[in-house]
Amino acid sequence: MKRTEPYTGFEQGPIRPPSEAESLLIRITRNCPWNRCTFCPVYKGTKFSVRPVEHVLKDIDKVHAYAESMLNAQQQNGRVAQCSYASLALSPNDQDRMALHAARSFVTSGMKSIFLQDGNSLIIKPDDLVRILAHLKQAFPNVDRITSYARSHTIARISDDDLRRFAENGLNRIHIGMESGSDAVLKKVKKGADQATQILAGQKIKRSGMELSEYYMPGLGGRHLWRENALGTADALNQINPDFIRLRTLALPQGAPLAEQYRSGEFEKMGEVETAEELLLFLENLNGIESAVKSDHVLNLFSEVEGRLPQDKEKMISTVHRFLQLSPEQQMIFSNGRRTHRISK
Ligand code: SF4
Repeated sequence: MKRTEPYTGFEQGPIRPPSEAESLLIRITRNCPWNRCTFCPVYKGTKFSVRPVEHVLKDIDKVHAYAESMLNAQQQNGRVAQCSYASLALSPNDQDRMALHAARSFVTSGMKSIFLQDGNSLIIKPDDLVRILAHLKQAFPNVDRITSYARSHTIARISDDDLRRFAENGLNRIHIGMESGSDAVLKKVKKGADQATQILAGQKIKRSGMELSEYYMPGLGGRHLWRENALGTADALNQINPDFIRLRTLALPQGAPLAEQYRSGEFEKMGEVETAEELLLFLENLNGIESAVKSDHVLNLFSEVEGRLPQDKEKMISTVHRFLQLSPEQQMIFSNGRRTHRISK
């Protein structure tokens, strides 16, 4: 007989997209069910599990109770920050501390958005996800946005009816780490989804009425596959027309198998100038779409490559062009300045 997992308290996972900095984080699964991408160290060495729905609902109730107490305290004394464990009659164990902290951040940022953790929330049973979404809406009816990461491979297998049900119950933005639209690159980095799957998943999300953020990773193909990375990704995105295209330049953090391949010489990482050339080729080949391009990560050399397609395409291209036309010495000064935050927009 399957043992029931006991509830051990409020949980939060390790990451969220930068654009969800103000969101309440509700963990519905732990880690990543795929966990094989060679560039990603986040969940390596961990085991994937789905949290029992009742536990997720308890987490929501806990944050809701704290948030209510804080709002009451705010009405009385005007300051959320004055809410302490004593004033909220809490026992300060680690989980309560985490839930209190989550509630406080949520209240102080206006209680407008919620992000479902961890790496691929749409893998749980559709009815369970709808139950969680309904509970969230009941607890926090004024929230504008509920979002989640999801893998293309998983989305491609969910029926359009279920995706629409998620949208009707308040899930209104999906973040997909496409990283690349090139089959050669996707295979090499073990993404577990080919270009056709990425396109199908993106189109399904769009059809469901949810907003779609797609992430592109300049540099992921290395010196051998940089053209394929740029052209394949632009081609896939042109067929999806996502609401957001988010740039996430390749890094090689410790724990990522690709970092080991780099050290052994198997992967040839590109420098700043080569990566800029890839980005330029990518931007030049985005056609017929109306996505907002976002450079919302510190790993990107050009924070100003942002805008709405098609009207801002030339502006974004000219930013990269200007860099490529600098002398090698000026390029180095610019790159170092950006990397050390001495040069901003
Ligand atoms: S699917 Fe996402 S979270 Fe999972 S290993 Fe790949 S990049 Fe990391």
